[in-house]
Amino acid sequence: MVGWILKKILGSKNQRELKRLMPIAHRINEFDEQFKSLSDEALRAKTAAWKEELAKILEPQDQWNRLDEILPEAFAVVKNAARRLKERQHTFTVCDQPMTWDMVHFDVQLLGGVVLHRGRIAEMATGEGKTLVATLPLYLNALTGRGAHLVTVNDYLARRDAEWMGQLYDFLGLTVGCIQHDQEPDIRREQYAMDITYGTNSEFGFDYLRDNGMATTREQQVQRGYHYAIVDEVDSILIDEARTPLIISGPATISTHQYDKWKPLIEQLVRKQTMLCNRIASEAVELFDRLDPGKIPTFTPNEPIGVTVSPEVRKLAAELRVHLTEVAGTGKDGKITESDVRYAASKFNPGILMFKVKLGQPRNKQLLRMMEDPDKRRAIDKAELSFYQDTRKEELFALKEELFFTIDEKSNEADLSEQGRMFLNPDDPNAFVLPDLINEFTEIDLDPELSQEEKDKRKAERQQLCDTQAERIHNISQLLKAYCLFEKDVQYVIEENKVVIVDEFTGRKMPGRRWSDGLHQAVEAKEGVQIDRETQTLATITIQNYFRLYQKLAGMTGTAETEAAEFHDIYKLDVNMIPTNRPIARTDYNDRIYKTRREKYSSVINEIRECHNKQQPVLVGTVSVEASELLSRMLKREKIPHNVLNAKFHMQEAEIVQRAGQPGTVTISTNMAGRGTDIKLGAGVPERGGLMVIGTERHEARRIDRQLRGRCARQGDPGSSRFYVSFEDDLMRNFGAADRMTRIMERFGLEEGQELEHRWLNKSVETAQKRVEQRNYLVRKRTLDFDDVMNMQREVVYTYRNETIDSEEPRRLIYEVIDEAVPAKVKEYLDVDEPNYTGLIHWVNTTFPLGLTKEKAQFETRTVEENAQFLIEKIKNAYERKSSHEERPRSKVSNVTSS
Ligand code: ADP
Ligand code: MG
Repeated sequence: MVGWILKKILGSKNQRELKRLMPIAHRINEFDEQFKSLSDEALRAKTAAWKEELAKILEPQDQWNRLDEILPEAFAVVKNAARRLKERQHTFTVCDQPMTWDMVHFDVQLLGGVVLHRGRIAEMATGEGKTLVATLPLYLNALTGRGAHLVTVNDYLARRDAEWMGQLYDFLGLTVGCIQHDQEPDIRREQYAMDITYGTNSEFGFDYLRDNGMATTREQQVQRGYHYAIVDEVDSILIDEARTPLIISGPATISTHQYDKWKPLIEQLVRKQTMLCNRIASEAVELFDRLDPGKIPTFTPNEPIGVTVSPEVRKLAAELRVHLTEVAGTGKDGKITESDVRYAASKFNPGILMFKVKLGQPRNKQLLRMMEDPDKRRAIDKAELSFYQDTRKEELFALKEELFFTIDEKSNEADLSEQGRMFLNPDDPNAFVLPDLINEFTEIDLDPELSQEEKDKRKAERQQLCDTQAERIHNISQLLKAYCLFEKDVQYVIEENKVVIVDEFTGRKMPGRRWSDGLHQAVEAKEGVQIDRETQTLATITIQNYFRLYQKLAGMTGTAETEAAEFHDIYKLDVNMIPTNRPIARTDYNDRIYKTRREKYSSVINEIRECHNKQQPVLVGTVSVEASELLSRMLKREKIPHNVLNAKFHMQEAEIVQRAGQPGTVTISTNMAGRGTDIKLGAGVPERGGLMVIGTERHEARRIDRQLRGRCARQGDPGSSRFYVSFEDDLMRNFGAADRMTRIMERFGLEEGQELEHRWLNKSVETAQKRVEQRNYLVRKRTLDFDDVMNMQREVVYTYRNETIDSEEPRRLIYEVIDEAVPAKVKEYLDVDEPNYTGLIHWVNTTFPLGLTKEKAQFETRTVEENAQFLIEKIKNAYERKSSHEERPRSKVSNVTSS
């Protein structure tokens, strides 16, 4: 076997790196050979001996070095233990299912283990046994006694892998724990105290936030440091999930939203916009007819009499197909200018009209239909492109002003136009304009007529007004988004009268999570369900920054290569591709491309039927829950039995996925559903070509497509995959190399119901995907850039907080702060030409509960230093009173609980 691996790993950088690891694999196997003669006890004794030795090494770096030295022997111990379990046909239960141990680490798995130990990403295809690979570095790194974590994508997999691999750890004398969503803190603490702990990224992350942001004593904290972690399905966790930070929130103290109030008006506004867009689209249809080259062979600009037109202008008019008689401004100074022509062109150019529709209603039905026609599509794309030149910014603005509002599908933004603002508030067109606070404040400050108190009062009023305006603008913009960009059963579902977010990427429902910034309330208002209280963030961290806490981080997945740059830049993780244990025998067919979704789906159904008829199992991947359900309805009509997975019920889904390789089975699944569960082929299936994987849409990221393809042909099994694409797919509409696609369509003359299939087309689709990947990377990077600032703050605050929690005498720390902060503030207010006594009193009263008044303070009677001393004493006194007050009841409570 080593022979074939060697053949595969010559040449590229990755291959050279792996080649260097080969001698280690040999060493491991030599030790394994030696250990065969040992008794169980002797093998197990090695664990205890190493643990004892490593515990004595205090410097982390020295500990890491020692681990590197013992790696071959330690990996061999694990492999040898696996062999013993297999020889004895060791039986056990995992998630209530009986199992027999049947695995001994393959050589490629040893390589993967070394890569993981070195803090890198091991790319190993689905079915290569990554669960078993992780046992090697987890065992080794857990020997330090500092804890080793394995991070999974869901609770079910955490439990499955902990129970399954636990057999091996148990045999070797290491303890293993597993974090589950519903565990109480005491149980969690026990799990973290184990040598090895399995759990999901969100449980680990939330425990971190609770430990550092909520716990008020050391005893309440559950984690014990961040030493070594392996992230399974690392792309899913560090890239896909990384888009939303982990947030612990509580209800906000006050809520001032106006969603209910604005809903009826916004509904009307959206309806008006729809009517407007439909009307523009119908005009465009007529104009397209007029431009039909079959009807007007050449275009003459049709010059009016008595007006001078320069040759440039005439040329432009011919180019833009504008009749000069239709040009606005005709007769003004007897001249027609270029901008007159451009303006007319925007009125009479159907491409521009449809671009306007796109701005106002990106999912307009007529627009979508026109995009299927190569000529019209090109005209619309051309219009759009031309407007994004810098010189045409004003024209673009003017175009937008002809609508009530604009919606940007790509950046998820909504913007009211003047018309829209007038409709919503005809009496006060300024209702949606924020006042210029800075200037107003300066004016108030400079007004000699006003006393200080009056100035403060005026400023407060302006501030209040500004806040109300801002809230209103914000609410309206969120409502517009809720109506125009968020579709029920796509981005969210309604369950028990609640809006539940569906992760578009994975199709998973995310109960309990809420869109931030009032968007969730806006959608609740739209759906007419109870509008929940706005929440405020109590503690938050991005997944990225959580995992950066670990001294050493490693990851494994079937698909990391396309995102190697991001892993490197953000996590300092390098990717090593590990060859498969057996050669891959999968056929990847070219994509099939259709004009419309409808045609695409009917071809998908045909292919499913063919497979089903010859009893070949099919796994159909979809990009959304909606698409899964649509396909399911179509299959029902065809009377083809099938299962649908939406990543909602991990455990049941794992059972269904396990059976997806049985003869004649049809399984429809969103891309996350059943990830991590292995599909074994049933009897007679390899002869029928193995599992067929059908992708019903190219995903935004190439990686997810590879992941889907990888579902078949594991461990050298036969299998095949094919993707179906239509021009109506979101990817193609928004990011398709539109122009090139259109050309290709023209070239091949794509008719209704026809399909295209060519290597080039795969490339075009990939280009679009790369573009989206790039954009999503930037979005994640931006989230992270923001969080980096907070992260510094978090580090300082959490460190200080933990010091306080740990200290026997928090009073001392608090006094330190007071002694430092108070004199500085006093100086700031008083050690100036005109001492600001009111300001200082205000600061004291908003920082400490002293209720200080001018009369009580008597600041004028003391020097600056004396005033500082005076305040420090008052504050400390108040603290003493408060703490003696608090300490008493607390001891009472603990008496009650202990008796
Ligand atoms: P991955 O996570 O890489 O997709 P899994 O860890 O789920 O793969 O393992 C896939 C299947 O391969 C499992 O059924 C497992 O029992 C089997 N397997 C893994 N390693 C071995 C091995 N060394 N010998 C035999 N079977 C193995
Ligand atoms: Mg796995």
